[in-house]
Amino acid sequence: MTPEQEKNVLSVDQFGDDFSSPGDHLLSDKFVTTRKVFKCCWCQGPIAKGERSRVSKCVMDCEIQTCRYCGECCQAMATDFDEDDCQHLGDRVGLHDADRQERNAALDLIIEKANA
Ligand SMILES: [Zn+2]
Repeated sequence: MTPEQEKNVLSVDQFGDDFSSPGDHLLSDKFVTTRKVFKCCWCQGPIAKGERSRVSKCVMDCEIQTCRYCGECCQAMATDFDEDDCQHLGDRVGLHDADRQERNAALDLIIEKANA
């Protein structure tokens, strides 16, 4: 992704109606090169170490929240910016939910065995 595309992505408002309480506001919003593996807050997929990702910090419901977006979700935001819609990012919501359920089930099993 080019620096200009990153700038475009940052102009995509990802919170919108989520800011529903009077004190809700954005603290910071930028691109970083990640130094650890993270989970994308949007598609629930992994963000690899060294990947460029958008990191947004905000106050929501009196709590500081950090949202990280993987490279593919950022690319979807860039495409949405170019095409002036929100279809591409919208399509990525919960993309990895099935995997997550499987992982959680496996973890439950391990915990259950360990506590038996
Ligand atoms: Zn993602």
